[in-house]
Amino acid sequence: MALEASIDRRNHAPPSTANGTTTAVVLPPTRGLATHRLRLNPSSDHNPDSYDDLPLEFSPHLFSSLERYLPPAMLSMSRDFKLQYMRDILLRYSPDGERTRKEEFGILHLVECYGAAARRRILYLHSCVSLRITKAEYTWVQRHREYRQKIISNYQPRHRQLYTMQAVNFFVPSFLQAINENTEEGFRRIISEPTPGIYTFEMVQPRFCEMLLSEVESFERWVHETKFKIMRPNTMNKFGAVLDDFGLETMLDKLMNDFIRPMSKVLFPEVGGSTLDSHHGFVVEYGMDRDVELGFHVDDSEVSLNVCLGKEFSGGELFFRGVRCDHHVNSETQPEEILDYSHVPGRAVLHRGRHRHGARATTSGWRVNLLLWCRSSVFRELRKYQKDCSSWCAECQREKKERQRLSIAATKQELLKREGTSTS
Ligand SMILES: [Zn+2]
Repeated sequence: MALEASIDRRNHAPPSTANGTTTAVVLPPTRGLATHRLRLNPSSDHNPDSYDDLPLEFSPHLFSSLERYLPPAMLSMSRDFKLQYMRDILLRYSPDGERTRKEEFGILHLVECYGAAARRRILYLHSCVSLRITKAEYTWVQRHREYRQKIISNYQPRHRQLYTMQAVNFFVPSFLQAINENTEEGFRRIISEPTPGIYTFEMVQPRFCEMLLSEVESFERWVHETKFKIMRPNTMNKFGAVLDDFGLETMLDKLMNDFIRPMSKVLFPEVGGSTLDSHHGFVVEYGMDRDVELGFHVDDSEVSLNVCLGKEFSGGELFFRGVRCDHHVNSETQPEEILDYSHVPGRAVLHRGRHRHGARATTSGWRVNLLLWCRSSVFRELRKYQKDCSSWCAECQREKKERQRLSIAATKQELLKREGTSTS
């Protein structure tokens, strides 16, 4: 049975990719095709087809992402053929190791209700280590789905116009113009870069800030009145709310796809900026009777968008301290990496999730920020195989330069020595 083959292989290490990009992964046979192969490394120069117009059981973006992993000979084949091939692969797996029909639970539901983890898991599975979702993970996902369903069917939104993307009403004209232009030059015109990798720009209209603040207040009032137990946005913030949980997921997905991804493609190509495919959207609240400050940390994102919504406050500056990989997350800060940034309502900060940062105490008033953590399943998958982080981790970069310097010095030394022996 196909599944046993995949279970057996879970115990083996994935094929080595150290010396090339052509390593293929052989998957169990299915539906008349002798083997289904995916590459471990994607064809980065391949421009995948769009699957947006099709009614599919998985996100169209997943197919576009997965297409890069097809064997090179398949890339020029018809979209229908590629689609069939990828669907066969995706439909082969289910959480408990049984093959189920697509109508039944499985990856389909997981992608629907917990896009990020499921997509990551699918890519993970297909890179042949293990694509199976554990029972505990599945139970959590199911509970979270019920949790959301409960909120959405009971909470009455106050500003319905927030729940669909209305770009002209949400954003300032300069931001819209840069997005429409979609060129590096256009983006650079509206952004300032106070330190490398930190971009700030005017983004949302005062009316948008007011509406979102009022929606969050209304949601929290509902939570309080109904004594609903809500999940907070992350392990560090005790105040604030996950916007995706009360119906804003579709609007925020559009914000990521149509606005943040085009910018990230240009500004953060080395951390998956062009393949952002899931998000976590929430607001955080600071003030005297809320969270006061936020410790030094990195985000669980490839790219983070942080927009100040107001209201009146003092303090609360963000401090940044350089980009680091997991291995170097606690390494020393270089003087040129120090940046303090004061929030301005309506203005956004865009940075790599791995850019270490924190927030100083909000000393008076009430400050609310909208956070959108954008993730790339493709980037996360690749990181398992590509250990070199020197294109974005400042410490890896320094180490690499140092190795090169030593190697050049050693070669020079060697040449001088040889010259010395030949002339003597
Ligand atoms: Zn590093």
